[in-house]
Amino acid sequence: MEIKKVGVIGAGTMGNGIAHVFATSGYDVVLMDIDEKFLDRATAIITKNLDRMIKKEKITEADKEATLKKITKTTSVKALADCQIVVEAASEDYTIKQKIFKDLDSICSEGTVFASNTSSISITEIAANTKCPDKVVGLHFMNPVPMMKLVEIVKGVGTSDETVTLVTELAKKLGKTPVLVNDYPGFVANRVLMPMINEACWALMQGVAEKEAIDTVMKLGMAHPMGPFELADLIGLDVCLAIMEVLYEGFSDSKYRPCPLLRNMVKAGYLGRKTKRGFYNYEK
Ligand code: NAD
Repeated sequence: MEIKKVGVIGAGTMGNGIAHVFATSGYDVVLMDIDEKFLDRATAIITKNLDRMIKKEKITEADKEATLKKITKTTSVKALADCQIVVEAASEDYTIKQKIFKDLDSICSEGTVFASNTSSISITEIAANTKCPDKVVGLHFMNPVPMMKLVEIVKGVGTSDETVTLVTELAKKLGKTPVLVNDYPGFVANRVLMPMINEACWALMQGVAEKEAIDTVMKLGMAHPMGPFELADLIGLDVCLAIMEVLYEGFSDSKYRPCPLLRNMVKAGYLGRKTKRGFYNYEK
């Protein structure tokens, strides 16, 4: 199957980045969200990111116009009916995704591939809402999508080898490096990353060292570009907590229990950069 038209559901942080990379790679994109205001916000962000690429002389003004022309916006899921693949990047909430995949199953033509960008929800469980679990796959892009090379290709229990091959080749055409993983909680990226961030929280809570010291140890000692608290603030502490809960429940293993300090930060609304306060203060 040749992929020409790609549907992207959800125009938030990840959705606008996914639409951006598909459009710059020459695909026609239909970007869908529940309200025009989210679509307008996405266009503004994509335009800003393309302008940044012009400044760096990576693309021309004409490339920017061509990319923007490739993206059609809609608030109706029916507009995705003739896409060859739909990438869902809506909010990380199983009931929202369940409804989306049921709708896609009844709207799209047979053969359409359904991908989810979920960070932690089981692809196998999402696929069970469709009549074609063999066509459902995880396509886990990293944030910020235009910059980050990795895409985790998540193979659900029923995902066919054909679907895996198709999305693997597609990821390569986007200039990404696909890595195949099986469908277990947190896949690989978050299963390894989140316990490290959570452990840093335990170390801080137990007074082992100050947050700046812990970040310095990991940056200078392990060559990490960001320390765990800097990174947690970037990701969002609510997101980190939600993923730890998925690991904890998914494996029924106490080694994944979320640190009470992380819980307290989320209860206080200190979610990181997005609320201007997390482990660090971004108010200035
Ligand atoms: P976000 O909150 O920035 O955006 C989600 C968008 O989905 C919003 O614009 C919202 O209006 C829209 N939406 C909600 N319900 C919808 C529906 N029924 N139909 C269409 N659109 C709907 O979230 P995000 O950070 O972009 O995350 C999206 C997905 O990507 C999640 O599954 C998340 O786990 C995953 N993800 C996030 C990151 C990250 O760093 N933020 C990284 C990798 C994967």
